[in-house]
Amino acid sequence: MFEALSGKLTGVFERLRRRGALNETDVMEALREVRLALLDADVALPVVKDFIAKVRERAVGQEVLDSVSPGQQVVKIVNDVMVEALGGAGAVGLNLNAPAPIPILMVGLQGSGKTTTSGKIALRLSQRLRRKVLLASLDTQRPAAQLQLQQLAERAGVGSLPIVAGQTPLQIAARAMETARREVYDVVILDTAGRLSIDAALMEEVKQIRFATNPAETLLVVDAMTGQDAVNTAKAFNDAVGVTGIVMTRMDGDARGGAALSMRAVTGAPIKLTGSGEKLDALEDFHPERVAGRILGMGDVVGLVERAAETIDQAEAEKLARKMAKGTFDLEDFAAQLKQITKMGSLSSILGMLPGAAKLQQQIGDANLDQKMLRRQAAIISSMTAKERRTPDIIKASRKKRIAAGSGTTVQDVNRLLKQFDDMSGMMKRMNKLGQKGLMRHGLS
Ligand code: GDP
Repeated sequence: MFEALSGKLTGVFERLRRRGALNETDVMEALREVRLALLDADVALPVVKDFIAKVRERAVGQEVLDSVSPGQQVVKIVNDVMVEALGGAGAVGLNLNAPAPIPILMVGLQGSGKTTTSGKIALRLSQRLRRKVLLASLDTQRPAAQLQLQQLAERAGVGSLPIVAGQTPLQIAARAMETARREVYDVVILDTAGRLSIDAALMEEVKQIRFATNPAETLLVVDAMTGQDAVNTAKAFNDAVGVTGIVMTRMDGDARGGAALSMRAVTGAPIKLTGSGEKLDALEDFHPERVAGRILGMGDVVGLVERAAETIDQAEAEKLARKMAKGTFDLEDFAAQLKQITKMGSLSSILGMLPGAAKLQQQIGDANLDQKMLRRQAAIISSMTAKERRTPDIIKASRKKRIAAGSGTTVQDVNRLLKQFDDMSGMMKRMNKLGQKGLMRHGLS
């Protein structure tokens, strides 16, 4: 998500920064390009207008134009306005300030990812915050829905309300709250029925459940891929039943991102969480300043470090670093490193967090940034013998053929991997030498 928008904006800013002095016309020209980029990304027109007006107001003052780096100043102003549009600084977390059992009501259209998100939130609250969570499906429309939630609960290792046939959503909600009180649950996640489109009956049902359970959060789940429709849906839900937060799913898709930028202005409700995959741990907090950083090509280094800290095995990483320093890094270690990278998520999602990512992705192309490639490389290494991994030099034509056949790849694939490994070991050796020289210099001075 955001790649196209980010690519365009980064281009505008680069041109702006390259010029030393700026006059009002330069800034207006750049803003025209920003406006087009936002519209192309599907940001709602009133939001774009407001955005540009705010930037213009702050950017054309003499103070900015006369400053030492006017281009940089304009970029900063765009960044500030974007952070505001996304909801202001800092992530807005879930509100859990209520007496237990705390009800959280999940609402949204069918297929938006509501049930999956219920499971994700349950997993997060039970794992990170050690809360005892009960999942209850109030979906009496789709027979399979209650079973789906029950299976999710099992996968997340949280409780689920036993299914009783023939109850109305309101009766199920009441039973969920009773069960939670009796069995001392901290949080009850109530997953309501979705509809294919907004209709009066759906809104009425949600309103009644909301009135009966008085939830601490009414979270609306919307699909980022539906663009402007997601914003319209959110507005309709908010006007009819009132929502306290939005969860935007499918941020891992290639949506143009405009919905995320319009959401706050159009609905007034903050985006609290985002979904970035089908797995239960693919749930992220929404940090407006980090998202703005990614859109403007400044990267989300904090997010990257956090993700790394969560997924990378520290002891393993240190072991690899020591081997690198000693120059004894072999293909076995290379495979271990690939595994760690794979755990962090798709390469393009990692790259997306790096400064200047949009440009890099355009240069490399998406095809190479694939989990598949990593898996293929791991397969190649696992088709080698232990000796081959320790001393890759012995891998000549016939061994290459065997390895390619064993891993379902081609000899070219094997060659590419060996070349990569060679390049990497070469780089490490050079770095080591430099490091030692540096140490010697220190020692002598
Ligand atoms: P519901 O009808 O709103 O309850 O939707 P579901 O939770 O059943 O989700 C519909 C489909 O979307 C399922 O296949 C989910 O795995 C998938 N899904 C949900 N959230 C995400 C997400 O953040 N990213 C991706 N790629 N898929 C998602």
